[in-house]
Amino acid sequence: MYDYHTHTNFSEDCFVPMEHMIDRAVSLGLTAYAITDHYDPDYCNHDYTFSLDFPSYHEALLSAQHKYKSSIRVVKGIELGIQLGEPMQKCRDAALGFPYDFIIGSIHCAEGQDVYMHDYYEGRSPEDVYRGFYAYMLECFKQFKDYDVIGHFNIIDRYAPVVPDDSAYMDIVKEIMQLIINDGKGIEINTSSDRHASGRRTPTKELLQMYVDLGGETVTTGSDAHDLEIVGRGLSEAHDMIIAAGLKYVAVFKDRKVSYIKIA
Ligand SMILES: [Zn+2]
Ligand SMILES: [Zn+2]
Repeated sequence: MYDYHTHTNFSEDCFVPMEHMIDRAVSLGLTAYAITDHYDPDYCNHDYTFSLDFPSYHEALLSAQHKYKSSIRVVKGIELGIQLGEPMQKCRDAALGFPYDFIIGSIHCAEGQDVYMHDYYEGRSPEDVYRGFYAYMLECFKQFKDYDVIGHFNIIDRYAPVVPDDSAYMDIVKEIMQLIINDGKGIEINTSSDRHASGRRTPTKELLQMYVDLGGETVTTGSDAHDLEIVGRGLSEAHDMIIAAGLKYVAVFKDRKVSYIKIA
């Protein structure tokens, strides 16, 4: 199994040291474990910075890779929080500033607001929120290419008080899917949504099917663990989703290059 989305205490919202997380991954028998700590420059919610101490982070990744080389493949990753404007250039600089194996591009802030926060959804119809969110995401990924997979594609499904009918916004989603497939990019199955109140998966099986039907074949699996107990959680269900969508492989990355592992 491959957990390609995890955090350590280099992320502002995680308090577990890197080695503890990796020890847990080893004890679960995972084949590869990608550390993808947050870098969200100019974070829209000023309660957080989501900055990253790059020199220490890079050193820790390299030394973990070395220390664990006989027990697990440690993948040097990062989760970039993409926004339009100046933060995007900071993300580009970060992506090119270190030989990462794997980069997740995620939308946490859309239209200048934190999609985790209630405020984002207030005073607008669910249709407007969804169209606004996906139009923003489309513009981001038209401009930003220094990533490998999009993180938790439909993150707003987790937090939106009301999810509108598909017909209200799926045209934009399809445009994003076509764009990223043309760019050779992937999506992830982020199993953490199974732990959210909404119960809607990221992606839903309909979104995964759309990606596959349009010709996409690069799907990673990740727990988005911020805690020890979450490491590796839901990965076999994610494999079931991949198979159900008509693919046979899980995507893995090294040196930003994809390869495909057949699901047993
Ligand atoms: Zn994220
Ligand atoms: Zn994450």
